[in-house]
Amino acid sequence: MDAVHFFKIVFVAALAAFTLARSARAAGQQDFVRVAEAVPGVILEPRYYSTYNFTGDRLPGYDCPDLALCRQAASALAKAEARFEARGLRLKIYDAYRPARAVEFFYRWSLNGDVRMKPYFYPKLEKNVLHLRGYIALRSGHSRGSAVDCTLVDMKTGRDLDMGGPFDLFDERSHYAAKGLTKEQEHNRAILRSVMTECGFKGIRSEWWHFALRDEPFPDTYFDFPLSDVGSVTTIGSE
Ligand SMILES: [Zn+2]
Repeated sequence: MDAVHFFKIVFVAALAAFTLARSARAAGQQDFVRVAEAVPGVILEPRYYSTYNFTGDRLPGYDCPDLALCRQAASALAKAEARFEARGLRLKIYDAYRPARAVEFFYRWSLNGDVRMKPYFYPKLEKNVLHLRGYIALRSGHSRGSAVDCTLVDMKTGRDLDMGGPFDLFDERSHYAAKGLTKEQEHNRAILRSVMTECGFKGIRSEWWHFALRDEPFPDTYFDFPLSDVGSVTTIGSE
């Protein structure tokens, strides 16, 4: 192959990659909504915008205190929130769409020696096993825009329901069917999971707080636009 031909191929490949990245970015801006606007009833506690998370730092891409989801997931979440509100509860959302750069930050963090947040989030594990145990990975379904991390708040008391352990605790206690939970904790996890499931989400075995939309619209796309890129909306379909 001569040099001109080679550079033509490289140029075309680069152009294709650029176009893909640009269309993914455009899709993100167009097809994602801010959770606070799409589902005003939920309580937002964006842990990765704050420093109260297992890294102890604000994450890259979390450049404003909003959370975002693709429209379909936001719509399913609105349905779930309405059902919880009818029972005197509200959803509290810790995280939703997660820019790919934040997931890469988690991975880099897992390889460094910073253990500031160990007592709160991984008290029983050494930090260097977190990625081996699957708690930290190079990619996350959250970057596809259809997953949420959440718990429930009792509107009579204003307190979180007792789920038997906090969000992002890297421990077997976070498994949905963990041993040693009280009846009340089992019941609270079951309420959260049953309503989310009825509304189109599915839970996972290892984290009681994590739900992903069953029919996600972007099953193969890992978005990386920052939260501030998500457009503002006034209405979405809630059915
Ligand atoms: Zn999650």
